[in-house]
Amino acid sequence: MSKGHIERVPVESAYTLHEYARSAHLSGPVHDLRQEAQTAAPVLKGRRVIMLNSTARGGGVAEMMPRLVCMLTELGVPTEWWTMGADEPAFFEFTKKIHNMIHGSGSPEISAEARDTYDRVSRSVANVLRRELSPDDILVVHDPQPAGAGAELAAAGQAAVWRCHIGLDEDNEQTDAAWGFLEPYITGYQHCVFTAVEYVPRYLSSTISIIPPGIDPFSHKNRDLSVQEIIGILCNGGLASSPPLTVTPAFEHQAKRLQPDGTWGPPTSPEELDLIHRPVVTQVSRWDRLKGWSGLLNGFVRLKRELAERTRNDARHHRRLQLLRLVLAGPEPEAVQDDPEAQEVLQELTEAYVALEPELQKDVAFISLPMASRKYNALLVNALQRCSSVVVQNSLREGFGLTATEAMWKRLRVVGTQACGLRQQIRDGIDGRLVDNPEDPANVAEVLDQVLRMSRERTPMVTCAQRRVYDEFLVFRQVSRWLRVLTRVVGGPGHPSSVREPEASTAARRSTR
Ligand code: UDP
Repeated sequence: MSKGHIERVPVESAYTLHEYARSAHLSGPVHDLRQEAQTAAPVLKGRRVIMLNSTARGGGVAEMMPRLVCMLTELGVPTEWWTMGADEPAFFEFTKKIHNMIHGSGSPEISAEARDTYDRVSRSVANVLRRELSPDDILVVHDPQPAGAGAELAAAGQAAVWRCHIGLDEDNEQTDAAWGFLEPYITGYQHCVFTAVEYVPRYLSSTISIIPPGIDPFSHKNRDLSVQEIIGILCNGGLASSPPLTVTPAFEHQAKRLQPDGTWGPPTSPEELDLIHRPVVTQVSRWDRLKGWSGLLNGFVRLKRELAERTRNDARHHRRLQLLRLVLAGPEPEAVQDDPEAQEVLQELTEAYVALEPELQKDVAFISLPMASRKYNALLVNALQRCSSVVVQNSLREGFGLTATEAMWKRLRVVGTQACGLRQQIRDGIDGRLVDNPEDPANVAEVLDQVLRMSRERTPMVTCAQRRVYDEFLVFRQVSRWLRVLTRVVGGPGHPSSVREPEASTAARRSTR
């Protein structure tokens, strides 16, 4: 007998909408959200929303859930966050496999045994849910893990939405097999929500909405930092030598830097990073091959090697490229011990770094960021991004790419690629630049060179980038889009609010898949 269980995750509210609205630049988005809620709250009166996913820690869904839950509740739509668990490890091994298949990788075979496990656990979780839910509740199920359980309740008449946070803008054997497996479950939901239109499977035609992720401008990752705070964080975290002048004490866990002999040492060795004084190109990501680390490293090396040809008759740009440094930052190796692929990628990058000539080794810094405290990790990422002349996300594939959103919000020059999530955010030449081939060093070098030269054009581009995040990718917009979806689910397809729903047209979907 399989035993599924559910747990309510306690959520503490950090800032009220009133507090956000006190900031001049956020009062508009909060006002728009309140307007949306004025229409939605009466339609949703008496309803409770249950957000159900499979983990309370780690990953983008868990990161985003507290803000979503608090804001919906504050706007008069009581919302709770529940997680599901199961006593069969094989269930989560299988859902991880489905996750990878949706991203186009792994074996496309699905055994009868795996299907049985999925159905058994889903039924068992559905039985627990059935006891806890009232008929008026709206169930919002996130990602494939609870999709089967939610489908059972949807079949019994519970209002239910499936929210998918993952996807790939190409079809292959693996994606076909994964979407084929999920079809009988997700077609039973009243409504499905995706991050991009390209991720919607063909068989879902009329009941979908697109909700991209949104960032919280008051989070430690995104909040404004004064110059003193930036320097303080760099010193406290070990990224700069600490004169005895910082207000806050050193962080318990420090950042580290890959050394020329392949070991990890302090970031101030073999010499200071000089993040405050030098032009810096930065990428912050997980150590995943699809993040395009080697292409970026090779592109940077090529740019440095071509310095003389690229800067003839331009002494200022010559000096800029001479001083330029590349920061490649990701989670500390200890945090990826259970991730063999991340270890392999780090090993390959270490070998590439060790093989560089000493002058280039000084200009490239692989940084390991401590992960023990989510707050200090976020502050270090925030400070690193704010010290950067250009933030790059050189991904081969990207579901969304929050690092780009974070940089755009901070009015930094951004370089992305044609990967779906990045081109969804960055319009080439308007909000930033896109590299066509992230694995081609010549292409990466050329785009970096162009962006670094852009001092005069810089202001319009970064202003557009921030405006784009302001309009589309802040948490307020995300909550607003959720209110429309929930209203539609309750009001039915004939409800007037559905007319303004940000759903994708069937025609657009057909042309992309
Ligand atoms: N990030 C972080 N510390 C790290 C590496 C990444 O805080 O050492 C953050 C990064 O700032 C972003 C998130 O992790 O907020 C990664 O999200 P993204 O959508 O860019 O990529 P994913 O990891 O989901 O593929």
